[in-house]
Amino acid sequence: MAISEEHRPSLSELEQKALEIIKSRGKEGIYQHELWKLLGIDSREGSRLALRLYKKGLIVREPAVHRGHRTYKLYLAKPGSTTPRSFKMDVSLNVAIEVPCFTCLYLHECYTGGFHDPRKCPRLSIWLTSKTEERERR
Ligand code: SF4
Repeated sequence: MAISEEHRPSLSELEQKALEIIKSRGKEGIYQHELWKLLGIDSREGSRLALRLYKKGLIVREPAVHRGHRTYKLYLAKPGSTTPRSFKMDVSLNVAIEVPCFTCLYLHECYTGGFHDPRKCPRLSIWLTSKTEERERR
């Protein structure tokens, strides 16, 4: 369930500002890079900020493409909507945990044709090669 005002977790000044901006965009939402610009922060700090708000159940993040780049659109979580706290999935995380992208600092800046490009990433290539070799040995 979404979090009511009285049960809202404590927020930093930056988080409150971000929430106000996201709220002001209503149903249109806001691309996360637009939010970073309005807040005067870089993408790394911005991605962490969005993740914190998402994990607190205060916003919804939807994958989007803007000018050919993968990004997220951010919306205020609706009261009564499903939040990450109540989200359940029946998957094994054993393999997923090993994927280098999940612990990569550049995950939110990585896209095809970008400076960090999954097609040219040595970390991802090495991991995929090791997985392929592992599978071939079975
Ligand atoms: S492809 Fe490489 S740079 Fe991109 S998120 Fe994965 S590990 Fe990071």
